[in-house]
Amino acid sequence: MNQMALHKLGYGLYIVCSRKGDRHNGQIANTVFQITSEPPTIAVSINKNNLTHEYIKTSKVFTASVLSQDTPLSFIGHFGFKSGRDMDKLEGVDYKTGETQAPVVTENALAYLEARVIQDVDVGTHTIFIGELVGAEVLGEGEPMTYAYYHQVKRGTTPKTAPSYIEKKKETKSEMAKYECSVCGWVYDPELGDPDGGIEPGTPFEDIPDDWVCPVCGATKDEFERIE
Ligand code: FE
Repeated sequence: MNQMALHKLGYGLYIVCSRKGDRHNGQIANTVFQITSEPPTIAVSINKNNLTHEYIKTSKVFTASVLSQDTPLSFIGHFGFKSGRDMDKLEGVDYKTGETQAPVVTENALAYLEARVIQDVDVGTHTIFIGELVGAEVLGEGEPMTYAYYHQVKRGTTPKTAPSYIEKKKETKSEMAKYECSVCGWVYDPELGDPDGGIEPGTPFEDIPDDWVCPVCGATKDEFERIE
């Protein structure tokens, strides 16, 4: 058996939100999918350790926002690498309150779906929540983010054919060290910089301002280690 076959499955990237009483939370999820069309039902698979899991289990409602391909890494990292137990992840983010009183993230979102749970399936580490659609809107035009695009283009080894590929500066090649974030594994490549974070391509790691943070997880500069 070659489990690499699993990596050939295609996924999107979504922010799944729920509430518990008047508290709310959201997280990144790649498994949101339509199950039936009559009536329209959707499912999400959520890790049992996540706060959003507890919220969906309690309130039996969830929303899913479809992220645009242009979504900044820092926005994804905010929902993916931080816990709502420590902070209000929706503070400072554009969102609205849906039919079910659950939050719906509208920032960087092309569309959203809102559902009431009709069944949940315990699958060990995760629960699959199946919900009947109670709300849905298209919010904007554009390409939805795929999981593959996020990993290949946004986070790392950018294929040259990708639309967001940044031409490398040849004269700076191999003179500047790469640094890896010890929290999330994202690699700072000086040749690419971090344009979303205001760091021009060609900026050595040492020259990055001290208040800069990892675009993926928000870790500070001192969490980075030189790798080559
Ligand atoms: Fe990081």
